[in-house]
Amino acid sequence: MALLPILCYPDARLHQVARPVQAVDARIQKLVQDMLHTMYEAQGIGLAATQVDVHERVIVIDISEQRNEPLVLINPELIWASTDKQRNEEGCLSVPGVYDGVERASAIRVRALNAQGQSHEIAAEGLLAVCIQHEMDHL
Ligand code: ZN
Repeated sequence: MALLPILCYPDARLHQVARPVQAVDARIQKLVQDMLHTMYEAQGIGLAATQVDVHERVIVIDISEQRNEPLVLINPELIWASTDKQRNEEGCLSVPGVYDGVERASAIRVRALNAQGQSHEIAAEGLLAVCIQHEMDHL
């Protein structure tokens, strides 16, 4: 596994729009492993491929205390968002040391491929919903 350099604000590459992953192949699976390793090393709870200068729609997340529940979202699509909002202090590995209040949907449903290329649907609320929406914004 490789530790990937994380782009930091105001790097212009953070504004590049990610394209859909064409196939969940060995290259993407290695990217997912490297992104998880990089996120854990940086003590983050989420990382988007854009942040490591790969402009494809891949996100890794782990909000568990034990850091052993990785969630992989490839080509994520928001299929539902609650009108109910929540406001949270958010931080970002690309904007170190800065935290700010952001208002987002309290609950969401997302469809994505997992690291095996299978489609799955996730219902999220609370911190997980915040984290998924934050990472999707990066893409
Ligand atoms: Zn971020």
